[in-house]
Amino acid sequence: MSDETIFSKIIRGELPCDKVYETDEVLAFRDINPAAPVHVLVIPKKPIVNVGHAEEDDALLLGKLMLAAKEVARLEGLEESGFRLVVNNGAEVGQTVFHLHVHVLGGRDFSWPPG
Ligand code: C5P
Repeated sequence: MSDETIFSKIIRGELPCDKVYETDEVLAFRDINPAAPVHVLVIPKKPIVNVGHAEEDDALLLGKLMLAAKEVARLEGLEESGFRLVVNNGAEVGQTVFHLHVHVLGGRDFSWPPG
């Protein structure tokens, strides 16, 4: 599977995004097809396909991804109301872009279990 996805182009600045947060290793931007009032994608700049492809060496980066999601939730005012993090792993469960991303969702009620 190629490392190159639409998110690679966003990371390189070849495609625009509505950026919410960025560090040397992580980028967060608004989903173009939001599923909630707040819907931000947090991605590592390193092209990891999904959690299933992450290696032991990626442990620190995966932790930073979670902390970036927390920071996005704070920036979006979701600390009090709560937020949901979703990571689809594989086409079978709905992954459509094969560059690891954490969906940060908030601003509405959520049901459980997810569909
Ligand atoms: O988890 P999944 O792979 O389905 O999520 C991919 C997400 O990337 C979708 O929610 C889609 O709307 C979003 N997307 C985006 N900008 C693009 C392409 C996809 O925000 N250019």
